[in-house]
Amino acid sequence: MHTTFERLRELLAEIHDLSAAMSLLEWDMEVMMPPKGAVARGAQLATLAAIRHRLQTSPELARLLDDLARRTTDSDEARLVAEARHDYERATKLPESFVRRFAEAQSAGYNAWLGAKANSDFAAFRPHLETLLELAREATGHYGYEGSPYNALLDNFERGMRAERLRPLLADLAARQKQLVARIVEHQAPRNDAWLEGTWDIAAQRAFSLRVLADMGYDLDAGRLDTAPHPFCTHFDIQDVRITTRYDERDPFSALFSTMHEAGHALYDQGFDPAWNRTPLADAPSLGIHECNSRMWENIVGRSEAFWTHYLPVLREHFPGRLDGVSVGQVLGVVNRVAPSLIRVESDECTYNLHVIARFELEMDLIEGRLAVADLPEAWNARYREYLGIEVPDDAHGCLQDVHWSHGMFGYFPTYTLGNLYAAQVFETACAEMPTLWDDIAAGRLLPLREWLRTKIHLVGRRHMAPDIVRSITGSEPAADAFLAYLERKFGAA
Ligand code: ZN
Repeated sequence: MHTTFERLRELLAEIHDLSAAMSLLEWDMEVMMPPKGAVARGAQLATLAAIRHRLQTSPELARLLDDLARRTTDSDEARLVAEARHDYERATKLPESFVRRFAEAQSAGYNAWLGAKANSDFAAFRPHLETLLELAREATGHYGYEGSPYNALLDNFERGMRAERLRPLLADLAARQKQLVARIVEHQAPRNDAWLEGTWDIAAQRAFSLRVLADMGYDLDAGRLDTAPHPFCTHFDIQDVRITTRYDERDPFSALFSTMHEAGHALYDQGFDPAWNRTPLADAPSLGIHECNSRMWENIVGRSEAFWTHYLPVLREHFPGRLDGVSVGQVLGVVNRVAPSLIRVESDECTYNLHVIARFELEMDLIEGRLAVADLPEAWNARYREYLGIEVPDDAHGCLQDVHWSHGMFGYFPTYTLGNLYAAQVFETACAEMPTLWDDIAAGRLLPLREWLRTKIHLVGRRHMAPDIVRSITGSEPAADAFLAYLERKFGAA
């Protein structure tokens, strides 16, 4: 028995190591690689992906899983066998010919999207998107599903969540958030940010970010902070979890918040149970629960009055003389400004979900066959008019702005909003269980929150699905009430 389980762990570790090697090549591609390395890098990644797929679908793995399913009783071991079985089945459900066609369509789609976005030329992207949508719909058939075919795709990103639950949850959220945004915008104080003018030294921005990272408990001996065009977090092991950010010389906050966001992801990855390193149990069960961590640190903590009570004086030390006359209130006025806008990744906390919900509804319509790709730009613009009250001037600022669909990733978007909802719900419980939490944050003591998240979420890994984790922490189902109450408290009185 023991040897069989040990053999399973060996196989899972090999699969993990190949994934880690691929992630390292991808990290290098974003951070270090010279442009001419791109073609060879594509080939290297494809070779590793093929070897990994062979291991993931090997007859030996299938035999071990069958064997252990009958004999394993220890709860962690049984959990690992079940998760490995899930991964095995997902990997074997897609025929190899489909995987190849999909990979080709992804790379053609991504390249076409880059050009189409640069020229705001939807017609150039349209045939690729049609192919990718067709393939996504074909994938739902291979995976199999109950209810909406969207569920088969959602499973790749947010296991345990269903379209039938999401649809009413997000429709209700959109209606309530739309009203709230209208009210806030009407009563918001005029801009008061002349003090931001001029340049903000990038070395000083980086030093300030590193100070906050250290306070958050991000282990820099098991991580790195680099720059990349699109900030991200990646990990190859619990002891090697890297983040990237990007700096804006005109804005001292943009890099900080993207760094705190990615560090929220990184604390999760550094906090998995070491006993199950190199297995699926040392991983997150969904993207939504990952975003729960990143958004909590970036928004609930990073954009709070308590945080800036401590960190405005620290920021002053990094920019001598620049912030002497600036108050915490003025900083909050800048970092919490609410304004309906065109671009999701630049949007504020109050309008962000509206961008996501528009995408979720559009991709549900695409996958369920109610919307043709040709009609997407018009449908997109109508959603923006309805939810954000703004006119989309061109497709580059509309339906071509995000990369996800060019990779054939349908079902990804709602995880962003679920992350916001989970974060508000989980943070409410954190406050109830740690009555001094806000005082700690106001004194620059960020470790108690990290420790609490470590016990409640990080160490759990994939033993439970995201909705179950949220329910076990908060005692209630994932819902929108805590998030709306949070927005109301923070912005409603404005
Ligand atoms: Zn994130």
